[in-house]
Amino acid sequence: MARCGERRHVSTASGHPSPIDPPAHEAINRYIDAAADVIDLSAEMRAALRDPAREVSVQIPVRMDNGSIHMVRGYRVQHNDSRGPYKGGIRYHPTVDLSEVRALASLMTWKTALVDLPFGGAKGGVEIDPRDMTQYELERLTRRFTLMIGSILGPFQDIPAPDMNTNAQVMAWIMDEYSDRYGYSPAMVTGKPLALGGAPGREAATGLGCVYVLEAFCEHNHLSLIGKRVAIQGFGNVGRHMAWELFKRGAKVVAVSDVSGGVADDGGLDIAVLKDHADSGGLLIDAGVGDHISNAELLAMQCDFLAPAALGEVITGSNAPSVRARAILEAANYPVTPSGDEVLGSNGVTVIPDVLANAGGVTGSYFEWTQNIQQFTWKLDRFNGELSDRLKSAYASVHLFSEQHGCSLRQAAYGIGLHRVAEATRIRGYLS
Ligand code: NAD
Repeated sequence: MARCGERRHVSTASGHPSPIDPPAHEAINRYIDAAADVIDLSAEMRAALRDPAREVSVQIPVRMDNGSIHMVRGYRVQHNDSRGPYKGGIRYHPTVDLSEVRALASLMTWKTALVDLPFGGAKGGVEIDPRDMTQYELERLTRRFTLMIGSILGPFQDIPAPDMNTNAQVMAWIMDEYSDRYGYSPAMVTGKPLALGGAPGREAATGLGCVYVLEAFCEHNHLSLIGKRVAIQGFGNVGRHMAWELFKRGAKVVAVSDVSGGVADDGGLDIAVLKDHADSGGLLIDAGVGDHISNAELLAMQCDFLAPAALGEVITGSNAPSVRARAILEAANYPVTPSGDEVLGSNGVTVIPDVLANAGGVTGSYFEWTQNIQQFTWKLDRFNGELSDRLKSAYASVHLFSEQHGCSLRQAAYGIGLHRVAEATRIRGYLS
């Protein structure tokens, strides 16, 4: 197990190592600096906004089913709460480390500000491979982690949500454990099962939100989504819902992948079949649909839109030259490193940044939180209608900002987020 803050060299989902990029949180700080230059942010404010307000690292003892105790490392990083309670998912993955969680927490700050939600940014992670654990072990781990960080969580303090390898069941355990100690608190976590105050629409919100953002991109660029060729890496919560919504709208999903590899069909995959297969727990490689391809081949496919929707750091300076998509939709968090971003920019590949592309997840979480607090339930139509309005309006402001300042969509999205967080910070008197 790596020590707190230590970064290991791991191969990425592209199969390419990323030797020339800094650790994730420093890479995100580069993106922040580039946008801060565009909006001419003072050095003092940059220093205040770059690094997290609080970082908690815990060693979690987990009783395994065979009676042994296994120690795992967990993190909660609270980046900024100038605009509201900290908000961000919890990820279970063997490559989780402090630098990654810091980076993801920072992204949440800019994302919530960009979509104008009354939240700040946070992220959590536990360094485990859930495939190696039983449900009972996962439950004990989740409950113990919740107890260990419970004092910094709460409906008006810090609100977790699902991320890679966590789901509604994990959120239910978090809510139950927290409520046992602090009183019934459904609003302390989002992405819950419907029976516990979850919102109809939340589960699909990130993938559907990606499609709303892509529709807005197409509208602003006078393109039709119908017949467009899309390749998607990752067929979990985000990738699967996105593929399904694109398929229903008449886009041609030419490739999808999961941890087992990918499947491709130049004429378009039958996503209904693949979705059923994955919903029942199958890996794509066993679906009997399309031709088998590797994850690295998927990233280099000829297509209109490439959507990385799995791990971060999959497009780097090493493999970006082989990207043949017209645009990249960053459905995953931090899938494109600064070295990759530079190559894509000089090759004319537009990047729709993560803080905009996948903001449907936290926007849906906001709707769930609001409903929990008001003890009032929305119908799905209202949920999806408000999701579409918020994301399309966020896209429009990013598009306008990028035209006005002659900058990339990433710099525009960060620029808007930074401006809003800086304003709240100044008005609250944090720097006085
Ligand atoms: P998930 O655990 O539901 O699915 C992850 C998918 O990635 C699975 O299909 C898995 O097989 C695949 N995968 C894992 N390792 C891989 C590898 N090495 N190569 C290729 N594929 C691999 O996770 P998710 O919730 O869909 O999250 C995916 C991404 O979207 C993450 O970057 C996450 O931070 C981001 N995101 C998620 C949400 C959300 O609401 N769930 C919101 C915003 C952003």
